[in-house]
Amino acid sequence: MKLDRVIAKHRSLGRSEAHRLIAAGRVFVDGEVSLGNQHEVDRFMSVLLDDEVVQQAERALYLMMHKPGGVVSATVDAEHRTVIDLIDDPDRHTLHIAGRLDRWSTGLLILTNDGKWSKRFMDAGSKVPKTYLVQTDVPIPAEAVSAFAEGFHFAAEDIITLPAELALLGEKSARVTLHEGRHHQIKRMFGRVGCLVTALHRESIGGLILPADLEAGQWREMTPEEREATL
Ligand code: URA
Repeated sequence: MKLDRVIAKHRSLGRSEAHRLIAAGRVFVDGEVSLGNQHEVDRFMSVLLDDEVVQQAERALYLMMHKPGGVVSATVDAEHRTVIDLIDDPDRHTLHIAGRLDRWSTGLLILTNDGKWSKRFMDAGSKVPKTYLVQTDVPIPAEAVSAFAEGFHFAAEDIITLPAELALLGEKSARVTLHEGRHHQIKRMFGRVGCLVTALHRESIGGLILPADLEAGQWREMTPEEREATL
């Protein structure tokens, strides 16, 4: 919301009255005087009018987790333990999951309460690359490499999947890089070439690689550089 609207709403004033208070240097955003009526204010910013709190800043959370198998990527679940249950932060209930992994998938998972940020790399249409290590039940046919690059028609969404890179690591193992995120995308793609996925592990999102010292079930706050790397 624009700063003039925040002030006008709080004081039940007209916009021009709010402009007058801002121009008089009486409004502070995150501790700094703001003279910009159009200053975009989100819920993670504090706003003061003189000494009066107009808006208290909410705490922004940016977490990464090494998701273990068996817990669901959901905020609540009637049957299973969720990834939120693994987090002992008092604000954990404000979090959402930026790019789910299936229950038995493991690896890099990002949780945040900043929807504007997560939308940039986790929308189905986001082109930010995500890499996965995959194990299959039977040998992966060589033609899978070109099939992944050409794309598959997904009838449910009526889309052709974007070119994905498949690098064969062994008879039944591969690294896959996706540039989008469709529901069960990797399992569905491997299904098309006759393979069942038996293990799936997300290694990276954009330039952010799951740190080697973050063990399954562990999580930590992301650094500003790590946040940048996902975009
Ligand atoms: N694709 C899948 O099929 N499952 C995941 O957990 C992630 C990507």
